[in-house]
Amino acid sequence: MLADSFGRVATDLRVSLTDRCNLRCAYCMPPEGLDWLPAPQVLTGEEIVRLIRIGVTSLGIREVRFTGGEPLLRRELESIIARTAALTPRPDISLTTNGIGLARRAVALREAGLDRINVSLDTLRPEVFRKLARRDRLPDVLDALSAAAAAGLTPVKVNAVLMRGINDDEAVPLLAYCLEHGYELRFIEQMPLDAQHGWKRAEMVTAAEVFESLSAAFALSEDSERARGAAPAETFLVNGGPARVGVIASVTRPFCGSCDRVRLTADGQVRNCLFARSESDLRSLLRGGAPDEEIAERWQAAVAVKLPGHGINDPSFLQPDRPMSAIGG
Ligand code: SAM
Ligand code: SF4
Repeated sequence: MLADSFGRVATDLRVSLTDRCNLRCAYCMPPEGLDWLPAPQVLTGEEIVRLIRIGVTSLGIREVRFTGGEPLLRRELESIIARTAALTPRPDISLTTNGIGLARRAVALREAGLDRINVSLDTLRPEVFRKLARRDRLPDVLDALSAAAAAGLTPVKVNAVLMRGINDDEAVPLLAYCLEHGYELRFIEQMPLDAQHGWKRAEMVTAAEVFESLSAAFALSEDSERARGAAPAETFLVNGGPARVGVIASVTRPFCGSCDRVRLTADGQVRNCLFARSESDLRSLLRGGAPDEEIAERWQAAVAVKLPGHGINDPSFLQPDRPMSAIGG
């Protein structure tokens, strides 16, 4: 098991496949991009699958989510998914993506064993997309969503981050669009994880504001059927259901007490939290010829020291050195 000293057990592994990205979302990266990890430092598909196998067969990992950076930039994604799906016990396999290039790969990903998908979509206006993601790719993302649904990657989930003065007036249109197409929308509060350290608490659009905007157009009611458990999203039934909307209040209502996640970066470092200030190096063990048991022990030790909370609301909070795109969101 991957247990920490506060009684939490990590069963959900987030694997970052690359720190690279083909968009430049303003809440994540500067317009010029970042210094990407040098290729030799990035784990090979073989190394990634070995670590996932150790997690699944020896450490109680039950869910594997591939993310990044942009995970679709890894050409061998289908093969990594297929090899993950062949493990016993077979973990639940999901993907978080910006959708660029998904339309032509959705069926192959599904066939490889992908169970679920989250596609990020922050705006329905092409000019706002250009400003926010600094690329003109809105049609690709909308095509990605319909291809994912057609491939049976359902329910298709949509992640949206609202930024003040940019897309904070789009909560209602985004939900209307998702309801019309049968996608499940979740709003995520903007977190201090951008590479350029531009996050300002006063500018963050809070979960309470999102709820208020949505309530003006939709009847939102408590979703008593879906227990929140370790899931970060608080979900609400829309107009009596069965459609739902989620709000992830990572900053204003942290859910660290029930967190069940652990993260593996593209360069083989285990992080026990998005906001952790230290990492444990599994790559050097992998490449140094260590046996599975030694890797599992280092991984357990990394999770054991997980702090009780992310501390964003403490005066002493320090943003982690790595940005979200390099940790794996
Ligand atoms: N590139 C993929 C994508 O955009 O879906 C996967 C990686 S991205 C880092 C994962 C998720 O994190 C996306 O839904 C994105 O909107 C979200 N995200 C990125 N930076 C964020 C921030 N500062 N605060 C909150 N969410 C953020
Ligand atoms: Fe790329 Fe995802 Fe970051 Fe946007 S949020 S820049 S798509 S990694």
